[in-house]
Amino acid sequence: MRAVVVGAGIGGLVAARLLRRAGLEVVVLEAHTYPGGLAGSFHHRGHRFEAGATLLSGLAPGAPLDLVGRLVGLKWPAEPLPRGFPLLEVLLPRGRVVRPVGREEERAAQTEAFGREVLAFWRWQEDRARRLLALAPWLPWPPEREEVLALAGRIPELLPLLPDLFLRASRRAPHHLGFRRFLEAQLLISAQATDAYALYAAMALDLPHLGPGLVPGGLGRVAEALAEGLEVRYRARAERLCLAGDRVVGVEVAYGGRRKGEREVLKGEVFLLDVPPEPLLGLAEPAPQDGWGAFVVYGVLPFRVEPPLYRQNARERPFAFLSLRPEGEKTVFSLSLHTPLALWQGLSREEYQRLKVQWQGRALALGEALLEGLGEAELLFAASPLTYRRFAGRAWVGGHPQTHPFRFPRVRIFPNAFRLGEGVFPGQGIPGVALSGMRAARLALAYLGLREVQGLVGRPEGS
Ligand SMILES: Cc1cc2nc3c(=O)[nH]c(=O)nc-3n(C[C@H](O)[C@H](O)[C@H](O)COP(=O)(O)OP(=O)(O)OC[C@H]3O[C@@H](n4cnc5c(N)ncnc54)[C@H](O)[C@@H]3O)c2cc1C
Repeated sequence: MRAVVVGAGIGGLVAARLLRRAGLEVVVLEAHTYPGGLAGSFHHRGHRFEAGATLLSGLAPGAPLDLVGRLVGLKWPAEPLPRGFPLLEVLLPRGRVVRPVGREEERAAQTEAFGREVLAFWRWQEDRARRLLALAPWLPWPPEREEVLALAGRIPELLPLLPDLFLRASRRAPHHLGFRRFLEAQLLISAQATDAYALYAAMALDLPHLGPGLVPGGLGRVAEALAEGLEVRYRARAERLCLAGDRVVGVEVAYGGRRKGEREVLKGEVFLLDVPPEPLLGLAEPAPQDGWGAFVVYGVLPFRVEPPLYRQNARERPFAFLSLRPEGEKTVFSLSLHTPLALWQGLSREEYQRLKVQWQGRALALGEALLEGLGEAELLFAASPLTYRRFAGRAWVGGHPQTHPFRFPRVRIFPNAFRLGEGVFPGQGIPGVALSGMRAARLALAYLGLREVQGLVGRPEGS
């Protein structure tokens, strides 16, 4: 039995590994020449840069990458960070606050920056994040037919969490201006909304405590580790889903590279899409009105930078996020800003170039506040929402802003075809798309009548 996975993003690769482990023949189609998509690394002028994601978390026991690693027998190429490690620094209108690894350490840093009035918020956050983490891998939303019973079985654990589905995070936060700015800035990077719904916000704020790790050589190594041993066909662009009745029977593929000009219909029994399904069905791809675009400036600094390697400028808007990766005596960086998608639409070539130069200057000015000398970068180039559109093969990246949980599409598109990745629940980020990969793999196995296979439905050993 063959599973065809379209897209070698983290979600697609996780699903592919799990299905292969369950005994299926798996073929992954990837339009680019390397795996990882928005969590991949690419080479440019002798350096490795991150396409999108820079901060890896989710390695803690019971967190998504830990679960996936144990299910497929994979040791992640990441160095877990010890307690107290200064993961992230947030620059605020008055002062700055470091987010260290470890809850106690974080509470101490928060008290020092904002006073004891924020402690109740962090107690609430910890409680909700812990409860949700225990549920997350088995929480289907919106549930498919075969998942309704599983969801119903979780009701006792879900009940105490329900109010936080309907409240915004700001309702849980104290009226401290500096803390509120901190919250907005942190939620924008991890929830794509400055005021996410409280339950998601609690989880999103847990990034430093979910098992963060540094990846020597760049974050793309994570996708490379997942892809190892899988049949990934690179330069293979899926163009159309072929249907017979209400089932998908194949994917029409156009090859590039050495196979340029070749086309084929790749047949299979189940299909998992780490890409929006609409273009493969000849339909327009929907984009949320409040969705964000990414503007990223890349560069190499002629000096080595010490931690914190992640820094956010919340002093001014738009908030800028700087990621630094020491490479020998130099430092590779990416500096990202959220930008409205509409700003980049309908521009002439000249208008586009002007806007890009303007945003690059703006980004670097915001970045200079985070790291003196950023302007000395040896190599500078930028990616706009249009670059991401071309690169990711879809109209928008970043997933649905997490304003409420009722905006996610169904995962099943046809009885034997499932979507996964940041466009579906629980949304963006490496841990989130890993969960969606697990869920899509479970549904595909259930469709094939392989429900009992290898612990994929139940919990892995020791969790
Ligand atoms: C600027 C930026 C910074 C980010 N920072 C972080 C971070 O620090 N930490 C974090 O956890 N997350 C971060 N994220 C989010 C994270 O990168 C994404 O949520 C995640 O990588 C998305 O994974 P995915 O599985 O949805 O697929 P994608 O990464 O979108 O991969 C889809 C793959 O499908 C391929 N493809 C597309 N169309 C076709 C087709 N027709 N045929 C064949 N292949 C196709 C693409 O080439 C791509 O490889 C960031 C995102 C961005 C944009």
